[in-house]
Amino acid sequence: MFIKRRKTKQIKVGRVPVGGGAPVVVQSMTTPDTADVGATVEQIHQLEQVGCEIVRVTVNTPEAADALPAIKAQTQIPIIADIHFDYRLALKAAEVVDCVRINPGNIGAWWKVEEVVKAVRDRNIPLRIGVNGGSLERELLTKYGYPTAEALCESALNAVHALEDIGFTNMKVSLKASDVHMAVDAYRLFSLQADYPLHLGITEAGTLLTGSIKSAIGIGMLLADGIGDTIRVSLAADPVEEVKVGFEILKSLELRHRGVNVIACPTCGRVEIDVVKLANELEKRLGHIKVPLNVSVLGCVVNGIGEGKEADIGIAGGEGHGILFKQGKLVRKVKSEDLMETLLAEVEIMAKEREAEISGNSGNDRQGHDVDEHSPSTSPRKGEIPVLKL
Ligand code: SF4
Repeated sequence: MFIKRRKTKQIKVGRVPVGGGAPVVVQSMTTPDTADVGATVEQIHQLEQVGCEIVRVTVNTPEAADALPAIKAQTQIPIIADIHFDYRLALKAAEVVDCVRINPGNIGAWWKVEEVVKAVRDRNIPLRIGVNGGSLERELLTKYGYPTAEALCESALNAVHALEDIGFTNMKVSLKASDVHMAVDAYRLFSLQADYPLHLGITEAGTLLTGSIKSAIGIGMLLADGIGDTIRVSLAADPVEEVKVGFEILKSLELRHRGVNVIACPTCGRVEIDVVKLANELEKRLGHIKVPLNVSVLGCVVNGIGEGKEADIGIAGGEGHGILFKQGKLVRKVKSEDLMETLLAEVEIMAKEREAEISGNSGNDRQGHDVDEHSPSTSPRKGEIPVLKL
């Protein structure tokens, strides 16, 4: 299935293009107190390492706003300041960051929003209008009785139209709810009525397992519809996991390809090697590779090569020996105890070759580490918006 992405206006968050056919961007949010510069910078570096492209930091106190210049000076990726309630913090943050997020449900009087707009306009940075099911305006709650997809959409549209009335269009929009159906319906409704880039997320999704599943379903349904320009998987877990899960969602939909994709068989009674251990170890030790590679670990040779045909490289277990294969072809037999290290070494070589191939072919290094790698087999068809292979 090829996803035809909905065309939105394009904005730029720092150096990262958002919307208008740009690749879907993976975001996350820091968890330390933003006033703690060291801890915040350290976490942003960890997020950068796993491919995070935009990071949001909460700016909830004057001390947090004061910390922003030092955080910006020590980090590379664009920063969004997350503001609730106090528009003065937004004014301060707008002097430093790459985008300001406000929630129309809790920022207060309209003149305060206008002040924020003036500040972001001065620096030509975008605004994110972040509507949330938990903090809808009182009038909308009275009208609808409780948060609904229609109420979320109306809140976002009201803000968008009011901003358009003062000539401001440099914005992206999010309509988050923790209820998957509500969030999906709200985004779908909004996208029928406006073409601003959309930031997708299921808010307060939950722990690593449940939150990832909820997000994969909610965000995945929308992305499959062609809706969404940036995503954040909200998890009650290390935000590094949010980025990893975000890329897995995009990889599953073939919207982005980044790094090693470990394909492992589910194992059955024929299994000859410890597939689970090998697959986990591979994911851990190959996390630094940024070029797309499918690496397969199969429990036996019975269906091994056949099942691993889609992989660039892989192993299949056997009695005492396993086999190493590339693109579905047998390369050589390897002793069981050497399978892991042999595969690791071969993947590193293949990654280097592919990296050289990609930089030779395109030279398009969009975000410092993203490489446009449209091979003939993955080239978009006529009239389709291309997807980025990293
Ligand atoms: S590859 Fe072998 S062990 Fe794995 S599921 Fe298939 S038959 Fe079973």
